[in-house]
Amino acid sequence: MPTTNTCANCGQDIYNLRTTDSGTALWRHRDVRSRAGCRGASYRSDTGWDDSIPRDWKARPLQPGKVPKMTPSAEQMAERRAEVDAIPPLDDRTAKMATLIAMAVRNELEELHGGDVPNILTDEQMAKINPIVRNATATALLAFRHPSNQRLARWLDFQAMLVPDYWERPELVDDL
Ligand SMILES: [Zn+2]
Repeated sequence: MPTTNTCANCGQDIYNLRTTDSGTALWRHRDVRSRAGCRGASYRSDTGWDDSIPRDWKARPLQPGKVPKMTPSAEQMAERRAEVDAIPPLDDRTAKMATLIAMAVRNELEELHGGDVPNILTDEQMAKINPIVRNATATALLAFRHPSNQRLARWLDFQAMLVPDYWERPELVDDL
């Protein structure tokens, strides 16, 4: 079974989420993983939902040789695809969480930086590491916050692929 198709109702891109144990294929519109409804999938942040799409329409694969009940214009499709790929703005809450995590990392790195053992990390290196940790953390948190965003999901998948088998499970820090 192909994993992507065109919706026989609204003509938007759909993909096969999974097949249930009873053999029913579950189709979702491409942009929002949890949305089966055609109207919901037409959402754009600037213009909202396309009200010309009936509310009871659900994602349904197009059979070969048939045409969808409704075909969005090329412009509408391009705009909706752009919406899918748009990176959501970094909200204040996520930015604050990233800052706090980066501070915790920085404090733990202090073991390598200060103290009476010879400094491994110089002030200059620490100054470079701090924003790197902050920004990477903010990006990861944003990706967790927007699981249906394709670009963020790809970025997170890529990180997951890079984690080596020999990395230990994280533990809590000593100085709680
Ligand atoms: Zn549809």
